[in-house]
Amino acid sequence: MEYRTVAEAYRDLEQTSSRLALIDRLGELLAATPATLLPTVCYLCQGLIAPQFAGVDLGLAEKLAVRAVATATGISPGQVTGSVQETGDLGLAAEQLMSATAAGRAASLQVSAVAATLRQIADAEGPRSQGRKLDLLGGLLARATPLEARYLLRLISGELRLGIGTPTILDALAQVHGGGRAARPALERAYNICCDLGQVASALVSGGVVAVEQIRVRPGNPVRAMLAQRLSDADEILVKLGGRCAAEYKYDGVRIQAHRTADGAIELFTRRLERVSAQFPDVVALLAAGLGPAEAIVEGEVVAYDAAAGELRPFGEVMTRRRKHGIDIAVRDVPVGLFCFELLFADGQDLTQLPYPQRRARLAGAVTVSAQLRLATATEVTNAAALEAAFGQAVADGCEGLVCKSVSPDTGYRAGARGWLWIKLKRDYRTELSDTVDLAVVGAFAGRGRRVGVYGALLLAAYDPDADVFRTVTKCGAGFTDADLAALPARLAPLARPDKPATVDARQQPDVWFEPGLVLEILSAELTLSPTYTAAWGEIKENAGLAMRFPRFTGRWRDDKSARDASTTRELTELYRTAQRKPAST
Ligand code: AMP
Repeated sequence: MEYRTVAEAYRDLEQTSSRLALIDRLGELLAATPATLLPTVCYLCQGLIAPQFAGVDLGLAEKLAVRAVATATGISPGQVTGSVQETGDLGLAAEQLMSATAAGRAASLQVSAVAATLRQIADAEGPRSQGRKLDLLGGLLARATPLEARYLLRLISGELRLGIGTPTILDALAQVHGGGRAARPALERAYNICCDLGQVASALVSGGVVAVEQIRVRPGNPVRAMLAQRLSDADEILVKLGGRCAAEYKYDGVRIQAHRTADGAIELFTRRLERVSAQFPDVVALLAAGLGPAEAIVEGEVVAYDAAAGELRPFGEVMTRRRKHGIDIAVRDVPVGLFCFELLFADGQDLTQLPYPQRRARLAGAVTVSAQLRLATATEVTNAAALEAAFGQAVADGCEGLVCKSVSPDTGYRAGARGWLWIKLKRDYRTELSDTVDLAVVGAFAGRGRRVGVYGALLLAAYDPDADVFRTVTKCGAGFTDADLAALPARLAPLARPDKPATVDARQQPDVWFEPGLVLEILSAELTLSPTYTAAWGEIKENAGLAMRFPRFTGRWRDDKSARDASTTRELTELYRTAQRKPAST
């Protein structure tokens, strides 16, 4: 299969915004892909060369990629950099430059050769690795057409810009190889428990939907995190959960899924599927000492924690542990605790089908608690007063609130789902305002007056998982310190787009668009109906969406969340409905 086929599909996808048209065009590409290459092409469409959790890093800095383009086109690196600055996109810059120098070049790159070379680029390590990476990329560019170069370089810079996410690829796989939409839930379930689109695609083409259904939870493959809905009223929570629930402390830290594989190795994954064992060697050591089963998958929250004082420390402290260098010092300066709340696999057994009380009992049996390895505090409650009391205690103990969990005997762990089996009760007790949400930045407006040269306000959106689209809910310029404002342009630069990304639904025109990628925590004073914002459009009222009034950045960059982990439009609808039911003063 020629890489040209993939590049042409990318080009078409980039120009398409309708979801159905995206699925059709992607389906066409997947149908044209031989079975053996299907996993590779699926990864490539995710902007990857291996499943994300494998942590394969091409390790090729932009400067080096610029040099490769310079060599391929015979233009100076300075000129290439100029062109990158003009277009804001290394891929487009390379394509434009190569249109002059390699205009008539016939396509000759094979998908398998591209994948193998990218793999070699990733594998090159050690003192001379940068030169080797440069040679390998140069070799690809010497044979690439301008269009192919656009996407090769975007893959390398980690920004494919196709406007599709994994949900859309799953749709296309169901359509082409699963016999239609009916296969979609099976594909999604499998993806949610193995996080490996290549594995799902390969099972599907070789053994059909039946083989996909046989994919099992396995240590080594992260399971997508089960997520919580949100309500702010104890009575309502109890109604939703059938009159009783486990009220578990909601710790304010970083969610970690720890896998101990048969070889004894322990790997930690974040909910964004990053491998972070190297950042948290102390957590690995805690688990090595305190985790019983030889093979296991445990989930918990890593929190900055003063074990001697029994004191939970603020979120900002644990975030200082998310670093590549100076780890020993950080381990010493910011001690953490792991508060475990799930056991998904133990000694050959997939526990995700078991109800929560049984999983929790197995967790208690699997973990030998110590000063820093703990179980999340949980109490079973059957009335609102007890739930309120547990909430008060959680807040007093330094937690964000509670996660109220269904104790019903017929509910398993729902990987990747934000359902009503877990309901968070979170109140911002430090201010009068009620609640925070996590929103994705999709645009920015230029600053005026004191803010000339930096952004004046950001256009923020919530995620609509049903449509795989980000819908706007507010424009926020408050709460940013001067340092935040100064940092924003650089943090957002890689996500900047000349036009509205296909995954964004907005009715206003910011000065810059961004591919959703950066998530910020925003304090909301009030949600109102609005004709200019698109979140929950038409759901509460015809021709109106939801807008957040008086939004304020809390200072928390949610780098632990990907854009698709942002608060959902449904959460906003719930917040709106809850607020409607309450007197304005509470
Ligand atoms: P949110 O990020 O506001 O959607 O809240 C969900 C997050 O709370 C989870 O992803 C966990 O990182 C965190 N969390 C803290 N304590 C718990 C707990 N006991 N059970 C489940 N999640 C928890």
